[in-house]
Amino acid sequence: MQQLIAGNWKMHMTRGAGAALARAVADGAATVECDLAVFPPFTALAAVAEVLHGRPILFGAQDCHAAPSGAFTGDVAAAMLADAGCGAVILGHSERRHFHAETDAQVRAKAQAAVSAGLLPIICVGEHEADRDAGHAEPMVCRQVAESVPDLFTGVVAYEPIWAIGTGRVPTLDDVASMHAAIRQALVRRLGPDGMDVRILYGGSVNPHNAADLLSVDDVGGALVGGASLEAAKFLAIAAAARRG
Ligand code: PEP
Repeated sequence: MQQLIAGNWKMHMTRGAGAALARAVADGAATVECDLAVFPPFTALAAVAEVLHGRPILFGAQDCHAAPSGAFTGDVAAAMLADAGCGAVILGHSERRHFHAETDAQVRAKAQAAVSAGLLPIICVGEHEADRDAGHAEPMVCRQVAESVPDLFTGVVAYEPIWAIGTGRVPTLDDVASMHAAIRQALVRRLGPDGMDVRILYGGSVNPHNAADLLSVDDVGGALVGGASLEAAKFLAIAAAARRG
């Protein structure tokens, strides 16, 4: 399977800026040998959808609600995202877990809704620095996998150590390898043999300088990129470091 390089634009990009970024990524896509995805804010989805129409780049939102419809002011259903042309959705990002108190149970319900709507969910998991310092990182992340991944899951898991997000700090390659191996085992315990088919991305301060090393680690199926996805040149340089699979 090709690696997937996904850009989480977070709360950045107006419609015009998002369309321009998506166009620049699309124009450079022919030069890379990996799958690409971008995750604009809700308000830029339509503009990005127009630019990416007919281009082999996945796009999606950064959250969805678990219910198909209802009195949930400010929320957006998975089927609405699919209707807007989205092919994927990021779920359980640490910023959602932190600022919106999202629980594993909620993430799991959202992921179930996303799969039912035909979207590719990217479920984020990752430990706080204190968990790593205390030697609890792997059991903590594996518990998140066990509790956030729904039955019959067809999606992606992104390992994002919280202390590495936006900080410029990254785990050692050995730590990444060890965590991805632990997540793989947790996925197989959760899903049986289908757990082998789930791509596991690494996320947290990936940039054009460290991408080749991080993407060469065993069972790293790609990268979820925040800050460096806001510039097409940097995002494409990371994508250029990806393995064909
Ligand atoms: C993220 O927030 O998903 C992320 C990986 O951010 P950054 O690349 O900026 O660390």
